Amino acid sequence: MPTVGIINQKGGVGKTTTAVNLAAALAQIRKVLLIDMDPQANASSGLGVLQSENTIYHVLVGGTAARRAVSKTSIPELDLLPASSELAGAAMELDTTADSMLLLSRALTAVRPNYDFIVVDAPPSLGALTLNALSASDHLIVPLQTEYYALEGIASMMDTVERAQGSLNSNITILGILLTMFDRRTNLSRQVEKDVRRHFGTQVFETVIPRSVRLAEAPSYGQAIFEFAPVSPGAEAYQALSREVLERVSQA
Ligand code: ATP
Ligand code: MG
Repeated sequence: MPTVGIINQKGGVGKTTTAVNLAAALAQIRKVLLIDMDPQANASSGLGVLQSENTIYHVLVGGTAARRAVSKTSIPELDLLPASSELAGAAMELDTTADSMLLLSRALTAVRPNYDFIVVDAPPSLGALTLNALSASDHLIVPLQTEYYALEGIASMMDTVERAQGSLNSNITILGILLTMFDRRTNLSRQVEKDVRRHFGTQVFETVIPRSVRLAEAPSYGQAIFEFAPVSPGAEAYQALSREVLERVSQA
């Protein structure tokens, strides 16, 4: 039951868009759980789940069983562990002991057997919520927006991942770096792609996610791209990514 964390402390790089649409693509052939670890709750609202009695906050802080916080989505094989703004409180309430960083990992023990795949959407920070996401994950996907400052901050993130490998979770691997919001009309996008591939080689997914209005619009309808615009470059790209992810996970 691989767990894949979508991580980058930089904001707005396409983490949530990737978490939702990768999870939805995988759900076409696997039983998938998406976990929203961001107090912004964008992954939850992006799948049309707006109000939930129990959320990941109650699981992490209140000891609620994960299965009691899981909600169904409009996609048959995709379940969601939703977030809410209360989760911002958890980020502060949780101390920084190793024990607090393992809350998610422990909470998932009982539900892992119910799923073939778990995807975790992390918030844009390196705080307790991201560390919990890191320690619960077997693999990481790092989305990078294809823009001039793409590599900014990546060093400190790799640092954090290495520290997590040393202390919290020695099994974690970086499954791949994903270029997002690629604009094929600009030289800048092509240049950044070249630089990132030169720097990270085969760590970079072959699949590149194009900039697409459809991908940006889908969440406001509470839909993944496969419901909102099944025939679109964004849907095609996330479908291709899901194939690459399955391949890489099977080789890891
Ligand atoms: P945060 O760090 O705030 O959680 P994030 O890394 O999760 O952000 P997203 O929310 O996925 O990033 O994307 C940021 C914004 O860019 C959103 O408005 C989203 O709709 C838009 N966006 C993401 N990917 C694409 C894309 N491929 N094409 C066009 N717009 C996109
Ligand atoms: Mg997000």
